[in-house]
Amino acid sequence: MDRFLSAEGIAEVMSFVASTPPAPEDVTDEHRGVIINGQILIFRTMPQRAQMIIHCEYAAKYLPQTIQRWRNNSSVMSVAPLILSEIQWCPYFLHAMFRACNQDLAAMQVKRTLDAAEAIEGMKQDELDRILEFLATLLLVQDRKDIPESDLSVLLTKLKIWQRRYPDDLEQNLAKRCSVLITRPPALTIDWLPSWRHRVLKGVELCAEVRCIQSVAGDGGPLLRCSRCKSTVYCCREHQKAHWPTHKAYCFKTEQ
Ligand SMILES: [Zn+2]
Ligand SMILES: [Zn+2]
Repeated sequence: MDRFLSAEGIAEVMSFVASTPPAPEDVTDEHRGVIINGQILIFRTMPQRAQMIIHCEYAAKYLPQTIQRWRNNSSVMSVAPLILSEIQWCPYFLHAMFRACNQDLAAMQVKRTLDAAEAIEGMKQDELDRILEFLATLLLVQDRKDIPESDLSVLLTKLKIWQRRYPDDLEQNLAKRCSVLITRPPALTIDWLPSWRHRVLKGVELCAEVRCIQSVAGDGGPLLRCSRCKSTVYCCREHQKAHWPTHKAYCFKTEQ
């Protein structure tokens, strides 16, 4: 396969690995963002399974560096969040978002969204979609108590403005979706929330075996984690075995 269209190809653009010819030394994150955007557009023409395999391989190998790059560049959708928003459904990414050392990331992204609020008004729809879809995933998987209340209330007023750009349907309306995740209204029946949560967390907080919905192991303890990728979880050995023919294509050795 074309090296450009591989996990290593993304890592080359990010300068996590050497490339041939070597990348110029003065390449900026903005440059990288333009190239990555081109890669993403081509990836999206590939079958979903092939895309997912590349995403998983990249995440397994380069997630810590990518998260570090995300921390270092304060722009709301610099090259690192751009890549991460594309691979946000990978168990590797989601599992990392549950780790204690990463619990500040939703708060960080909320702050950056507010800092960019004025620019966001003028953004094209697909750029707004990307920012809000990524934010929604972070708000879903990370605890909102780590986000300052003052930031959340300003964000809610901004989301009210942005939600006018979407259809009324709650599931399609990414701005409304973020608002619901912040306010978590108990009285309102948010019938899409459990099924969406289930979809996102399948294999990360719920046993990965297709028909299983267990969130604990058979003995009531924590789910068993695949020892190779350390990201995908199972309620029992039998379900891990049954799922292996599917999982093996997405299972890459990782240290965390
Ligand atoms: Zn199971
Ligand atoms: Zn695995």
